[in-house]
Amino acid sequence: MADYVSPWMDEELELFRDNVRKFIAREIKPHEERWADQQHVDRELWSKAGQAGLLGTDVPEEYGGAGGSFAHESVVYEELAYAGNTSWAKAVHEIAAHYIVGCGTQEQKRDWLPRLVSGELVGAIAMTEPGTGSDLQAVRTRAELRGDEYVVNGAKTFISNGHVHDLLLIVCKTGKNEGAKGISLLLAETGKLEGYRRGRILSKIGQKGQDTSELFFEDMRVPAENLLGGREGQGFYQLMNQLPRERLMIAVGGIAAAEAALRHTIEYCSARQAFGQSVLSFQNTRFRLAECKTEARIGRVFIDHCIAQLNRGELDAETASMAKWWATQKQCEIVDACLQFFGGYGYMLEYPIARLYADARVQKIYGGSNEIMKELIARGLHA
Ligand SMILES: Cc1cc2nc3c(=O)[nH]c(=O)nc-3n(C[C@H](O)[C@H](O)[C@H](O)COP(=O)(O)OP(=O)(O)OC[C@H]3O[C@@H](n4cnc5c(N)ncnc54)[C@H](O)[C@@H]3O)c2cc1C
Repeated sequence: MADYVSPWMDEELELFRDNVRKFIAREIKPHEERWADQQHVDRELWSKAGQAGLLGTDVPEEYGGAGGSFAHESVVYEELAYAGNTSWAKAVHEIAAHYIVGCGTQEQKRDWLPRLVSGELVGAIAMTEPGTGSDLQAVRTRAELRGDEYVVNGAKTFISNGHVHDLLLIVCKTGKNEGAKGISLLLAETGKLEGYRRGRILSKIGQKGQDTSELFFEDMRVPAENLLGGREGQGFYQLMNQLPRERLMIAVGGIAAAEAALRHTIEYCSARQAFGQSVLSFQNTRFRLAECKTEARIGRVFIDHCIAQLNRGELDAETASMAKWWATQKQCEIVDACLQFFGGYGYMLEYPIARLYADARVQKIYGGSNEIMKELIARGLHA
């Protein structure tokens, strides 16, 4: 909102924001409908984004990144949300990169990070399986060490960037341990891998331009040195380490989408006439939008607090879970309330508010469902 500026914004970030806006107007906006029809963005978007400095903004410079902070990433997610974009799953790519930054060996960082930052590789992360999502300890994809290779068997589903990725981070079972201690993360360059198959791109109620896909591993062979961090059984710990970042990314996008909904609605209600006056002049409209604006602001201030915490390396799992559930819950409530003021037009996909509505729903489900977020918060309820 124009009347509130996040405390972490500065002149350099303003310039960066301006570049991001121009990039979105030039490289994303004109293609959205086509991407929705084909169910994925064009592969070249990634290299263009790399060239424009939009990938790996907070990856350290020694690995090819821009060496910025999570504030740079937040600027991109905000601008994408303000522009109504949900086709480009940049966040997933950055999540994959940050697993390598946070948990990879020196060789893994040197090998993969520069290529992720340039857009030569597109990242994806495969946790969810047909039989399990929330309960990650129950994954059944198995990687068995044979000589200097892992042989991987299993299936994943709902994987974002599932069609366009080249580097896949796979949550799998290794060794004999069951439960959390048996989980490892394995990286696969999936380009020409035998035994690797991309399944259908799934049809969704929103986020139509995003390739959410099924993936299959049938005796897929991956070099043993691709084990993230080089030690088996570290996967659960690595996930716990990185999930707060993913949850904050979702929350940043959620609040920005709620702000975007408010802007569209105020504009529409000012112009739309009913009973000889603007829809914005009805007290019901004004009060409801005043509530929405207040809630969006509260969300924004809390998210800013979390961004500062993440930048200091202090964002804990509990606070990140609060941000994720609250921001996405409010996003859905605010977008729903806003849509009502469009009357029948709100239900028409040619209006941005209808797309914001359809795109919002999944925010309460992925990245750890909001029920799981409350579980994580509730663990800290001690007398
Ligand atoms: C568009 C989209 C993109 C996605 N992208 C990715 C991706 O890139 N990578 C990836 O790995 N996954 C991805 N997912 C999967 C997503 O993370 C999972 O769908 C989500 O974690 C929930 O898992 P599930 O679907 O198996 O539901 P389940 O785990 O079967 O849960 C079903 C319901 O039960 C509830 N529930 C489960 N356990 C508990 C509990 N202990 N207490 C209370 N309630 C509970 C859940 O909250 C949910 O409401 C994506 C999903 C979608 C829809």
